[in-house]
Amino acid sequence: MAKILDGNILSKAIKNEIKAEIERDNLKVGLAVILVGDDPASHIYVNYKQKDCAECGIESSKYILSESAGTDELLSLIDTLNEDSGVNGILIQQPLPKQIDLTAANERINPLKDVDAFRADNVGRITIGDYTLGSCTPAGVMEMLRREEIPVSGKECVVVGRSNIVGKPMAMMLLHEHGTVTICHSRTANLKEVCKRADILVAAIGKANFISAEYVKKGAVVIDVGINRNEDNKLCGDVDFAAVEPLAGYITPVPGGVGPMTRAMLMKNTLTAMKLQSELNKA
Ligand code: NDP
Repeated sequence: MAKILDGNILSKAIKNEIKAEIERDNLKVGLAVILVGDDPASHIYVNYKQKDCAECGIESSKYILSESAGTDELLSLIDTLNEDSGVNGILIQQPLPKQIDLTAANERINPLKDVDAFRADNVGRITIGDYTLGSCTPAGVMEMLRREEIPVSGKECVVVGRSNIVGKPMAMMLLHEHGTVTICHSRTANLKEVCKRADILVAAIGKANFISAEYVKKGAVVIDVGINRNEDNKLCGDVDFAAVEPLAGYITPVPGGVGPMTRAMLMKNTLTAMKLQSELNKA
């Protein structure tokens, strides 16, 4: 039986630490969240993030653009928020309507307010291992491993998925902690065999219950980043939890695993962004 890595408990501890620091140092921290369109899931995610802000003592503001908004309208809102000293972090909730140029929007965010760390320069900093704002999901996974005292150094780490926001930065962060890292994707040959080598297996695929017991070495640490709906429309991960849990050493549940850690890292990045901006203002 695997030890369950409970993201709800760990993220609560992180949020309490953030709240304590904000209160102790009497800090004023603000996060602006931009929503474009009416995607119901996005509205739910944004509400969660605003709840997290309230728990941490971070002021949150929500900006909603219409489904038909163009890139120019979004860029102009970002310009306004970049200038607003009460806003320390800017987050654009995805997915965006097709007509919006997401790359242009991300690149327009002041790099010190890029709390999702999606800008190319911030991704580059993660790659060279010299960063203060780390992509929230992989940073959340690393924080989980650290707090559970799961060693990475010298371990075989396999990341399935190579997206710019999860798979690639995840692989880089494991590498910086001296893991021996393999990145897999849809064209990887012998995926099962590669995954079965892993001491630490991270699934960031987006396919419900894809990782079965055949992909997992006995005692492995299995981190499930996926958020999917199964045939009963229930939330599930990329890992077949029922089949893998008896075999794994550690496993994250979905929901309640990586998701809450991602949100906690957003709060941490917003506080870090505020500190970076105030240092710049002092200089
Ligand atoms: P993307 O769709 O951008 O990337 C998916 C990756 O999985 C791609 O690299 C793709 O390979 C790979 N892949 C797809 N099918 C297979 C396959 N059959 N075998 C091996 N690899 C495959 O997704 P994201 O990285 O944005 O997200 C991944 C999952 O994580 C999603 O479920 C998403 O909802 C979830 N997520 C969860 C978060 C959280 O907080 N828990 C935060 C962000 C995302 P290729 O490149 O070759 O196409």
